[in-house]
Amino acid sequence: MKINVTKMAKFADSTTGRLAATYLALIMLMSLGFSVVIYNVSDHQLHRQATSSSSVDDSSGIFDQNNIAFRQAVRSFLSDRASEARGELLWNLILLNVSVGLVGAGVSYYLARRTLAPIEAAMASKDQFISDASHELRTPLTALQTTNEVALRKPELSLKEAKELIAENIQETKRLKYLTDGLLGLLKEAQTNTLDRTEVSLQDIVSETMNQIVIYAQDKDITVEDVVPNIKIYSNPHILTQILTILVDNAIKYSPSKSTVTIGVKQAKKSVVISVRDEGIGIKATDLPHIFDRFYQADNSRSQASTQGYGLGLAIAKKLVSSIGGEIFAKSVIAKGSTFFVKLPIK
Ligand code: ADP
Repeated sequence: MKINVTKMAKFADSTTGRLAATYLALIMLMSLGFSVVIYNVSDHQLHRQATSSSSVDDSSGIFDQNNIAFRQAVRSFLSDRASEARGELLWNLILLNVSVGLVGAGVSYYLARRTLAPIEAAMASKDQFISDASHELRTPLTALQTTNEVALRKPELSLKEAKELIAENIQETKRLKYLTDGLLGLLKEAQTNTLDRTEVSLQDIVSETMNQIVIYAQDKDITVEDVVPNIKIYSNPHILTQILTILVDNAIKYSPSKSTVTIGVKQAKKSVVISVRDEGIGIKATDLPHIFDRFYQADNSRSQASTQGYGLGLAIAKKLVSSIGGEIFAKSVIAKGSTFFVKLPIK
């Protein structure tokens, strides 16, 4: 894993800071706005109360000089009380805004983290993908470069040697093409329109898969048996064929010649389970939880010179299965064989 962690952390920090500051500015803007409204309304009320309580109709002239003095005293008392109340209100509003600012800073930071966390996770996964992909491309490319350079340095290169070198190069480029196809597949599947669903016959899916893998099976003299009843489900036929092809292709790849691969289907109330069983090398219990990870290859399969993969097939299969609402899992006994299961909703 070669992700630049410090760069990511710096990015996260500065972005979180900026987003939190924006949230805080919004919170403060609302709080100050409300405070201004509350202050103005209260000020207006106080002013009205002070003037109305002290203004008594004197048109009849029944109030004498003492009464007028009393009224002035009341007016000045009320006006003092109003100023005091105004001052208190102002202080309370200032205190309230300081508290909102402090609490708001915490809340803003929390909200900013919550908003950014999934984006950062997506970025980290993309970085990981690029880093893994570059790493995987680098090895065969370096091998290709080295063999060519060594051959070129030879003073005399016979025609036979040159042809062998070209054949090796072609073999290596084929592997590279296989790898880039797999990488593109991983990216493309994310964009596949999984909403294109129709009624699909599982027997049709199996025959379509058989057409694609028959050559590999014949090549290794492997029998592929299918015991699939005529079940129809509502799904995406293109995706289903891709999933099954990956599983059967692996079953052939990791099985000895003259063995049997069996495709079966079991139906439950709301789901069907498609299984692909082989009598191959099996998968260690410690490898089993990782085989659906990108670029993961169990040691025993790496050491098999004839089975050169890149650990992408099952990652693609898992992505495809979840895109149509299913689940994929496997069980295996080392040196006895493996069974892969794909559980799919009928509707
Ligand atoms: P690869 O291109 O290496 O086959 P996959 O993603 O298809 O990549 O498989 C990941 C790993 O899981 C393989 O390298 C192999 O170790 C293991 N594996 C997958 N299918 C089988 C199987 N049918 N039998 C044994 N091992 C398997």
